[in-house]
Amino acid sequence: MLTETVSQLLNDQVNKEFYSAYLYLCFSNYYVEQGLSGFANWYKVQAQEERDHAMLMLQYLQNNDVPVVLEAIAKPEAALKTNMDPLQAGLAHEQYVTSLIHALYEAAYEARDFRTMQFLDWFVKEQGEEETNAADLIKKMELFGSDPKGLYMLDQELAARTYTAPSLTL
Ligand code: MG
Repeated sequence: MLTETVSQLLNDQVNKEFYSAYLYLCFSNYYVEQGLSGFANWYKVQAQEERDHAMLMLQYLQNNDVPVVLEAIAKPEAALKTNMDPLQAGLAHEQYVTSLIHALYEAAYEARDFRTMQFLDWFVKEQGEEETNAADLIKKMELFGSDPKGLYMLDQELAARTYTAPSLTL
């Protein structure tokens, strides 16, 4: 049995993960408009991953007989003016998501809900990787982004990212 608090937080997280997908799709659209199809691809793949996160949360709730409420997904609020803006907004967003996952973990811990803690372990690790990836992108952009050839090469590198299903199965 999941407690009401843990159930509610997990249900909220379904929405937050779908919002993440929406936000990254917004970033992808921005880069399409800038002619940077590699950056656009990177964020499109990222959006697919976020949708997977939402679906894993949803499935976990359903596996535990908790009804899922699908709330409205907010319009992405991101003022994008430079090619660096999405990267910085992306890192800030991942740091925020990490705080949400940690709050969820804390609620599960307080409820002695070991099953949910085990489920969330994957997400704790995943958030570490997401923050590293987001920070790496900023570093690369700082190093190469101001030079047209460097930006072109970076765009080519990001074009190579392909989608793979999450390693977590329920
Ligand atoms: Mg996520």
